[in-house]
Amino acid sequence: MKKIIVAIDGYSSSGKSSMARRLAAETGYRYIDSGAMYRAVTLFAMRHDMIGPDGAVDTEAIIKSLPEIEIDFRPSANGQVTLLNGEDVENEIRELPVSNNVSPVSAIPEVRHALVAKQQAFGRSRGIVMDGRDIGSTVFPDAELKIFVNASAQTRAQRRLKELIEKGVATNFEEILANVVHRDHIDTTRAESPLRMAEDAIALDNSNMTIEQQDKWLLEQFNIAVAKASGSNTIS
Ligand code: C5P
Repeated sequence: MKKIIVAIDGYSSSGKSSMARRLAAETGYRYIDSGAMYRAVTLFAMRHDMIGPDGAVDTEAIIKSLPEIEIDFRPSANGQVTLLNGEDVENEIRELPVSNNVSPVSAIPEVRHALVAKQQAFGRSRGIVMDGRDIGSTVFPDAELKIFVNASAQTRAQRRLKELIEKGVATNFEEILANVVHRDHIDTTRAESPLRMAEDAIALDNSNMTIEQQDKWLLEQFNIAVAKASGSNTIS
């Protein structure tokens, strides 16, 4: 069977990363979290004072430092960890200070161009599941399977709260909901590859679905797409 590219896009905290990670584990495909790459660039910028405490972004300094930023992933017991210039930054990039600054950084065209090129390199030999905002529309317009995930802002904030509590990160619901709504706004209104559903994507609203239902649905879509790409009408 032919190896395909699976692009899973959607709003913040819609559960797309977990779905994508589980599909990759089930199928033996490589999983790439493109959001982690934008988060790692943001962390680098924060550590080098390119983002002020008031959120003011020094765009020029970030663009200049792009060649110094190396992002990679390493497999771990829980899936994978994100490496920023070789350092494991997996937990730090998930915390609110990075979440609060990541959307303005990811709206910088030069940042997007650099990361999109890297994401495309990861997918060169296909056999990849990538999640993000513009994977089906910009990074892999030729992906054989494109999913666009959504759920209400309340549901998404609730999920994010649970996730952060499990990780032991101190936070509260109102703060998270504000961050989710704020990021939705920036992500959908930025000039460079804004969050939007690719025309040939399949929409999924998972507000009222269990994890098992989502996984089953996604695997069915995957099997259909692989069969189609392999020129077969039957699903094996
Ligand atoms: O997926 P996650 O919520 O971790 O992504 C963090 C942020 O990175 C998003 O809010 C968005 O601003 C940005 N992003 C993006 N394009 C992607 C993935 C993430 O602009 N493909």
